[in-house]
Amino acid sequence: MSTALAGGTDAIAERMEKMTELFVTETRKSIYTGESAIHCEECGEPIPEARRKAIACRYCLACQSQLELTGK
Ligand SMILES: [Zn+2]
Repeated sequence: MSTALAGGTDAIAERMEKMTELFVTETRKSIYTGESAIHCEECGEPIPEARRKAIACRYCLACQSQLELTGK
């Protein structure tokens, strides 16, 4: 067994872990700072402030789940 190879594998795993961490952080950042629509783009109903603050959304909960169901 080569210790150099084991070390290299660890380094790659560590790097991948860091990249995943970074990606998650970036994703969270974009979710929290992203702009949310005040009114649903689908039905025009006002989107609750709590939902707009929680995630950057463009649709109300009903339309969002409908869109997710239909895969659009
Ligand atoms: Zn809607």
